[in-house]
Formats: sequence, C-alpha cells, structure tokens
Amino acid sequence: MLHIGCHLSSSKGFLAMGRQALELGADTFQFFTRNPRGSRAKDLDSADAAALMALMAEHRFAPIIAHAPYTLNLCGAEEKNRAFARETMADDLRRLEHLPGQYYNFHPGSHVGQGTEAGIAFIAQGLNDILHPDQATTVLLETMAGKGSEVGGRFEELREILDRVELSDKMGVCLDTCHVSDAGYDIIGDLDGVLTEFDRCIGLERLKAIHLNDSKNLTGARKDRHERIGHGCIGLEALSRVVRHPALRGLPFCLETPNELPGYGEEIALLRRQAEL
Ligand code: FE
Ligand code: FE
Ligand code: ZN
Repeated sequence: MLHIGCHLSSSKGFLAMGRQALELGADTFQFFTRNPRGSRAKDLDSADAAALMALMAEHRFAPIIAHAPYTLNLCGAEEKNRAFARETMADDLRRLEHLPGQYYNFHPGSHVGQGTEAGIAFIAQGLNDILHPDQATTVLLETMAGKGSEVGGRFEELREILDRVELSDKMGVCLDTCHVSDAGYDIIGDLDGVLTEFDRCIGLERLKAIHLNDSKNLTGARKDRHERIGHGCIGLEALSRVVRHPALRGLPFCLETPNELPGYGEEIALLRRQAEL
C-alpha cells in the first residue's frame, strides 16, 4: 500500500486539510507550520487538531509532515538569526504536541560562508536546545540540493548532525528526490546504489519520509527547482522505481511539485497506478 499525498495550504485549518487530502486520493500530506517567509503563527485550535487526528485514524493515514518555514537558519552567521530559528522551531514543536506522532521537517540550514563544519555544529547545538525527551514529534532533517552554502547536500553531513544530537531517537531524515538528484546522487541510473549509500552513512531506519519531486535540472546541478512528475530530468520511470522500492515501502511520500490541486490529484492517481505495476 503506497502512502502518498501532497503539500497543502493550511489557511483553512487542520480538518480542512485532512478532507482535502481525502478528496485528492491522498492518505498523508504536508503543510507549512506558518507562512514560509514570515514568522507569525495563528493561535492553535486544539479541537480542530483533534478532529484531524480522528479523521486520520479513521482513514488510516500515514504520518503527516509539518514543514518549518524554509527561511529559518539554525546556522546563520548572527546569533539573533540562530536564536530566531530556535525559538520558532521550539514554538512549532509545542504546537505539534496537539498532533502527536507526526513529523516536523526542516532544512538544516546554510552556513553562509562559515564553513560546513561550523554549520553542522550550530545545527546540532540548536537541536540540542529545542528537543525534549517527552515530545511526541519526530524531527526530520531534509536532504538538500547543496545549493549555495546549504548544509545537508551530502549524506555524511546529515550523519554528523545526527551524531551530535543528544536526543537522537527524536530525529529522522526526509529524502527529497529532486534535492538528492540535484546534489549529485544518481537516483535515475542507480537507485539501489544511492539507498545503499544512505544506509551506510545514515542508516535506512532513520529514513521516515520521501519528498517525491521531479527536477528541472540534471543530476549534480545543485539548483533545487522542482518539476511536475514525469516532466523533468528525473522522469516518470525513475520516480516509479522510487515508489515501488521495497526498502521504502510504507513510508509517506509527499509531492511538492508545481501544481494546483487537480494536478496533485492526477499525480497521486498516476503514482498509485505505477506503484501497483
Ligand atoms: Fe523542504
Ligand atoms: Fe522537499
Ligand atoms: Zn526543494
């Protein structure tokens, strides 16, 4: 059984996203915890969160993914930027306790010239500040395209962050197919090899979710421009091998392709058919 969904707008609340997902044939989804650029979050409606949890249980959803604003940077050059990222993520995690057992995905950060080592150290310190032993949310590091000074374009970098996090059982990884291809991993020609490398560096048991995207650019381009499924450089065949791969079975797959809702519905149906082949 393939668990698949897409990124949804959270503007109408939690239950509305769950219903929207069902209409699209999805059994998971992703949403931004707040405006991706801004910082203000609406007051959390705990009854709405409980209603979503009930709907997800009834329809056997896979875990859903709350995505942190992508402008947060745990390894920014200035302490005030790092502190803002820590405070915002801590606030998100407090809110997510109303949706127990789900995932909180974030971009590790950009070292902005301080170097990868310094970036990794700040990211791990930030996580050690934020994580709590009793939290019900698993925090996911997203694999990045390696654009600019992004940390997390190499599996080794994610491994180093995980090694330095004390509450490491609260941590996992989300693999983005566009990002890993852009970062230079050959998921088109050698998916088995890439997953073997992931297992060697990080451990496949850490892999909790997949962002399923085609890419506008060739492997190694380090661009991070998503494309619709089958319209980019990765292509439908290679992405179908991802949804069919036995090592990934059971994980939530989430589309972040440039689509309106009907386009997402079509991609979900297409990939469900591909998963059955
Ligand atoms: Fe992301
Ligand atoms: Fe992604
Ligand atoms: Zn991306």
